[in-house]
Amino acid sequence: MAFTLMDLPYAYDALEPHLDARTMEIHHGKHHAGYVAKLNGVLEGHDDLLNGDLVDILSNLNKVPDAIRQKVINLGGGVYNHNLYFSSFSTKGGGKPVGALAQAIDSELGGFEAAKKTLSDNAVNLFGSGWSWLCVENGKLVYATSQNQDCPLSNGQTPILTIDVWEHAYYLKFQQLRPNFVDAFWEVVDWSIINDRYEAAK
Ligand code: MN
Repeated sequence: MAFTLMDLPYAYDALEPHLDARTMEIHHGKHHAGYVAKLNGVLEGHDDLLNGDLVDILSNLNKVPDAIRQKVINLGGGVYNHNLYFSSFSTKGGGKPVGALAQAIDSELGGFEAAKKTLSDNAVNLFGSGWSWLCVENGKLVYATSQNQDCPLSNGQTPILTIDVWEHAYYLKFQQLRPNFVDAFWEVVDWSIINDRYEAAK
């Protein structure tokens, strides 16, 4: 067994005009696929990890041998983070949070507009390549940012929403205009999926 590239639950052009087909095709078919292939290469000979669960691995990096730990952070994070990102969208995306998540955003984060602004600002202001996250930690919603492919699982947080702000996520369509990409991101988030993650994490 080895890790495999997830299938997208929609067509590459399904999120047009917000996220364009060419970006989705390269992002998933080349970048995401590349992380999967390289992770499997690094884990060759480490059958326990190769047959393991990425959430468990990234949550317990102390169990990964020193010699390959940084590569597992980079490549395992590259796989997990993109799995979460790509499975956050649908053709029914956009709008506002629903269910228990909507209530928690209101009571813990001051409402959706405030939360959206913080998540967007964190994405836009992150220097270099990384991610803006909404996570659950000890039952509460928390914001996080990470550089490179670092994953909040390694800090004891359970991610439920993430914005990929590596240039490969937006450059073909938006060039340097990261804020415009972040605006487009909100148009395709499927809040029923994010609410399911919230209820599972809480
Ligand atoms: Mn990416």
